[in-house]
Amino acid sequence: MSAPLFPLFAALCGRAVLVVGGGAVAQRKTQALLDAGARVRVGAPLLQPELAAWAERGLIEHLPGRFEPAWLDEIWLAVAATDDDAVNAAVAAAAEARRVWVNVVDDAEASSVHVPSRVQRGPLQVAISSGGGAPMLTRHLREQLETQLDDSLGELAELLGRERLRIRARYPALGARRRFFDRLLAGPVPALLRQRRGRAAQRAFEAELAGGERTRAGSVVLVGAGPGDPGLLTLRGLRALNEADVILHDRLVSAEVLRLARRDAERIEVGKQSGAHHTTQERIHELMLEHARAGKRVVRLKGGDPFVFGRGGEEIEVLRAHGIAYEVVPGITAALACAAYSGVPLTHRDHAQSVRLVTAHTKDADDDLDWVALAQEKQTLAVYMGVAGLQRLRDRLIAHGRAPDTPFALIENGSRAEQRTVVGTLAELPDAAQAHAVGSPALLILGEVAALAETLHWHGAAPLRYAPALAAAA
Ligand code: SAH
Repeated sequence: MSAPLFPLFAALCGRAVLVVGGGAVAQRKTQALLDAGARVRVGAPLLQPELAAWAERGLIEHLPGRFEPAWLDEIWLAVAATDDDAVNAAVAAAAEARRVWVNVVDDAEASSVHVPSRVQRGPLQVAISSGGGAPMLTRHLREQLETQLDDSLGELAELLGRERLRIRARYPALGARRRFFDRLLAGPVPALLRQRRGRAAQRAFEAELAGGERTRAGSVVLVGAGPGDPGLLTLRGLRALNEADVILHDRLVSAEVLRLARRDAERIEVGKQSGAHHTTQERIHELMLEHARAGKRVVRLKGGDPFVFGRGGEEIEVLRAHGIAYEVVPGITAALACAAYSGVPLTHRDHAQSVRLVTAHTKDADDDLDWVALAQEKQTLAVYMGVAGLQRLRDRLIAHGRAPDTPFALIENGSRAEQRTVVGTLAELPDAAQAHAVGSPALLILGEVAALAETLHWHGAAPLRYAPALAAAA
């Protein structure tokens, strides 16, 4: 086994680098080198159009013709990027003879330097290499890191770079400096940068720099978990779950999403569904405050989107009133997910120009609804509610003028493995739901577009039609 590679980051700014080759690969390498500030000479008989344009504009120097060793004069680093193995080998040999570092694209053996996979956030770079032996593995790791590292890390690295000397002056001893960094990274500065509040971040940094040891302030991130399919969680949501100390989650949040959370995070179910396990909204507020005050990073994980029939607004009002820092990460709400996963476009040039998200969870609540507006045609209603209220909903909509043959799609467990869709017309809605024993959670899409589920469905089983015979048999 050969010795492992020694990792380095090269300061190429203003230094001459040779790229041999004039095709797409050479262009990609040239771009990366230009980004690092290198003076790039590209040697090839012919340049592809973009490289030729760069040469025209003086961004690069073109060395025309076939490779000759003299091209390596004054060169710090060479890249062989032709599709001709013999030329690449000649470049490698000539570079080796002159002790110029050389990278031969896709040829680890012939290269004296390898170019790693990398994840970049501003000045912060993570380089990954398997020594050329397992490029698929490094690619996989790179993708994982891409999802995990927030964009704002670049700004954090910039801030720390800018303030390096002041930090050093304030905490000359290494141990104290290390403790300062731990505090800083666990404190409000990274979150403020995430929130694109640069000035507030700078102020928080100053306070942290001036202050001695302090206890960590807790915070709450309201995260929308989406409808169930864990692939519908956002990257931000995933990152918040990775960092959480405590997760307060709704009953509606799927096990698959919860599995993505940090393993040692404390998980507390605060399902508000009726039944034995009942947590009042007040109790949820108390739990958030309690854990945040104890310095914990709390994730309040809610089904769908926190601000769509999720009481997310009330929860952050409480946090604000008590001076607890918070962030909100949106989630895919049930209406969007159920529509997509049942093949029902919520708007459609021919069928619907607007969408309403409606809830009618309690009996009294629907007295406040504007039924005339809801009954208008050529619009789509996405109704969040229990199936128990469907009869009332149908009667009112028809009484206010919606055609009895308006199509509906009722989607149970949208986006999950168990998803079922029942389709039919408004007139038969409650009977259809009952005949197919539709349970919770289910979302109703009512409107002309709902008929498209029958042809456009793609996830899980085909939509179930209501057949009165089925009801009679049941
Ligand atoms: N904040 C959530 C909604 C909470 S209200 C969101 O944005 O999606 C709860 C209602 O949402 C349920 O009664 C049901 O109508 C709907 N719902 C949530 N998840 C669902 C799913 N996976 N499939 C179908 N309906 C769902």
